[in-house]
Amino acid sequence: MRESSLKFLKELLETPSPSGYEQPVQRVVRAWAKKHADEVRTDVHGNVIAALNPKGRPRVMLAGHCDQIGMMVQHVDDKGFIFVNPIGGHDTMVLLGQNVTVWGEDGPVHGVMARKPIHLLRGTSEEAKPPKFTDLWVDIGVRTKDEARQYVQIGDPVTFRLGFTEHINHRASAVGFDDKSGAWVVMEALRLLQGKRLDAAVFAVSTVQEELGLRGAHTSAFGIDPQVGIAVDVTFATDHPGMDPKVSGEVQVDAGPVIARGPNINPVVCTQLQKVARRRKIPYQLNGVSRPTGTDANAIQISRAGVAAGLVSIPNRYMHSPVELVSLKDLEHASRLLAEFVLAVKRDTDFTP
Ligand SMILES: [Zn+2]
Repeated sequence: MRESSLKFLKELLETPSPSGYEQPVQRVVRAWAKKHADEVRTDVHGNVIAALNPKGRPRVMLAGHCDQIGMMVQHVDDKGFIFVNPIGGHDTMVLLGQNVTVWGEDGPVHGVMARKPIHLLRGTSEEAKPPKFTDLWVDIGVRTKDEARQYVQIGDPVTFRLGFTEHINHRASAVGFDDKSGAWVVMEALRLLQGKRLDAAVFAVSTVQEELGLRGAHTSAFGIDPQVGIAVDVTFATDHPGMDPKVSGEVQVDAGPVIARGPNINPVVCTQLQKVARRRKIPYQLNGVSRPTGTDANAIQISRAGVAAGLVSIPNRYMHSPVELVSLKDLEHASRLLAEFVLAVKRDTDFTP
């Protein structure tokens, strides 16, 4: 991966963005977009919209959600232990034994989440069952509630400790590849399109609050009023133990971006994405989704009078854990696919099925 693009990806991953608390990561997105877009704006909901050729036709929206799952400080007890509630979908088993960060107003505060030692759990009813959020606490090292309040306020966001690790075969793991990889892909596509002759107007959007019900895609799609919209998100890779292709299809890390097909997807967009991929020799995988997807493509499709929606996904192992694993090659191929798709859209391209 190109050095400055990799730096941008790392910056996204190392900056916190639980849903509703995306402001820090959107500053990173704006700094990138300013270098590569004709226009950058942030709407009142917090979506960052970066446009190239904004007066062109048709209008194409590319959406990657920048929010990540996280937690929020709900209560601090007398001893300064912090109780949190989830932002988005968590597996509480995965929270046990984690380093976490409370993003306080005066700076990050490091803490840990755990439970009592295994020696004391053996034979008890707690041993076998996953804890509830009310059974878990964050320990930041303070002695009292008053001391805790010097660092942490009610409503502060909490994440796993952020970071980025590179592995063998261009693979990498991090907290929040869901869906900072999507935000990266749409912004990198914009860079690839910069300076190219375009019929279409392109709006690359770093959307907010996807994890709480696709809320940023709703509002940004309404504002942009696109004819075509492609969401980029992660999807379940089914190439590790325990996954069943009969349920989720065959999806492999490193085999290229996944083009979705099904009722949430406009058939012309789906065909066009595949044609472009074949013509430009970009590897891709096809996956069927037989219902409205749980992605921004869902909100985009039914915006206003309807939008021709597409979905391009990055194969992701261990979704919503602190070790989400992807292939950086898949990310690069996805951004090329989007850029080539946009270049193939002409003023008279008709997406009516
Ligand atoms: Zn996602």
